[in-house]
Amino acid sequence: MKEENREDDIEDDSWALYADASYGNSIIESEETNDSNSEKEEEWFDGDDFEFEGSTINWDAPPCPAPLGIEHIIRIGCCDFCVQRLAGRRTNSKGEEGGKEIRKEAFQNNPELESSLKNELCPMCEDLFGDVDNIVTRIIDEIGQVEHSTIQLGIHLPKDLVDEEDKIRSRHGSPGSAPLKPSFVRAIQEKLSIKVNNVSFVKERPDLMILVDGLTLKVDVDVRPVFLYGRYRKLIRELPQTRWPCRACRGRSGGCESCNNTGLQYLESVQDLIGEPIRLALSAEDTSFHGMGREDIDVRCLGNGRPFVLEIKKPGTRDVDLEEIQNIVNQNAKEKVEINSLRWSNRSEVVKVKESRSEKSYTIRFRVEDIPDQETVIESISSLSGVTLAQETPQRVSHRRAAKTRKRKVIQLSDIVVEEDEVQFFVRCEAGTYVKELVHSDEGRTVPSVSSVLGDKECTVIWLDVEDIHYE
Ligand SMILES: [Zn+2]
Ligand SMILES: [Zn+2]
Repeated sequence: MKEENREDDIEDDSWALYADASYGNSIIESEETNDSNSEKEEEWFDGDDFEFEGSTINWDAPPCPAPLGIEHIIRIGCCDFCVQRLAGRRTNSKGEEGGKEIRKEAFQNNPELESSLKNELCPMCEDLFGDVDNIVTRIIDEIGQVEHSTIQLGIHLPKDLVDEEDKIRSRHGSPGSAPLKPSFVRAIQEKLSIKVNNVSFVKERPDLMILVDGLTLKVDVDVRPVFLYGRYRKLIRELPQTRWPCRACRGRSGGCESCNNTGLQYLESVQDLIGEPIRLALSAEDTSFHGMGREDIDVRCLGNGRPFVLEIKKPGTRDVDLEEIQNIVNQNAKEKVEINSLRWSNRSEVVKVKESRSEKSYTIRFRVEDIPDQETVIESISSLSGVTLAQETPQRVSHRRAAKTRKRKVIQLSDIVVEEDEVQFFVRCEAGTYVKELVHSDEGRTVPSVSSVLGDKECTVIWLDVEDIHYE
């Protein structure tokens, strides 16, 4: 069986890094570039009085907010968005409308300006701001019916455009003018907020991660997963923990004859008995199941149950009543699986649950060949309470685990019951103890073992129950 969805996790994380980087970097880059010019630029803050002791001033085009500066950015073809962004003037309106005000005033101050303009692409944004409406429409289309309340927006812009914009802005823009990328992001967010209700823009853990390519105007909407924590009790044997593909066809292309075209070796699994009703309730695409360790197919899991985190991929809704969901799962999986403690969780809890080293308690029942008398059996097995075992990787799992010897402590061993040739006891062990091997010794690969303390008697496990997982 495969390790569940490790590749997906990596993919998801790199997506997040990518989106963050493309959003955050622009701000950092332009701040750095501004630094080298900041001393010069501060001089211009005083307004229209151009006293400056340096020698590199272009007297025809001082930076904004000087009227000549504003005239210059209009002359080189800046769009109204960029005029407003660079001018460093207070305007009655924001964005494009504010730019129109500034432009009008500049035309009044210099009547030749208007007639001297050619209809060119804005050198600051290549008319990108003109695409904001179009982009917002695409975003809304892409989101469709997916419910969400938070969005993280990332923009990808060609580097040469960003560099060129930065150069012009540092020379001609008003000190502190907002760089292209964050301005563009803000313009999209403002438009989007008008059209979509109750959405806020965040920089981490969004419901939707949206990436806009400024060159192709392609919009990618990534619906972020949600996570649920709970504990499950597995009440029957012959039920695998995770989906088990058919041995014959390996679950490929619609299954085969031996699996009745289901693609599955076992029709049901803990993963699906829990995950499927939840997937349906959240209108999600798929789920990933992350359990705190595994149990063999024939092992029940009782007590408070085994902690798990369910990752629900591409949910269409996020607003559900967890108590109701828990009831639906329990109704549906009646007498097979039962869940409790269901609550919202997150990706970091997946790691926590998977890496947890919790002690576990079991009850195990086995048959002893040529069994000694009851007193000897109880006395011998009791001697294992508190010992540290040396366990080589069991033969049954050696195909998927590297061979090594591990030390594991038997914390408590008690409640030994002998019935004819069958023995049963309760045992609490350190995490990672192979309990079946503690009994039958795996041909001497676990030392000591029940088999060895009984005088190398052959022990055959009948059943094993997890009684509890001692977690929190
Ligand atoms: Zn522009
Ligand atoms: Zn098959």
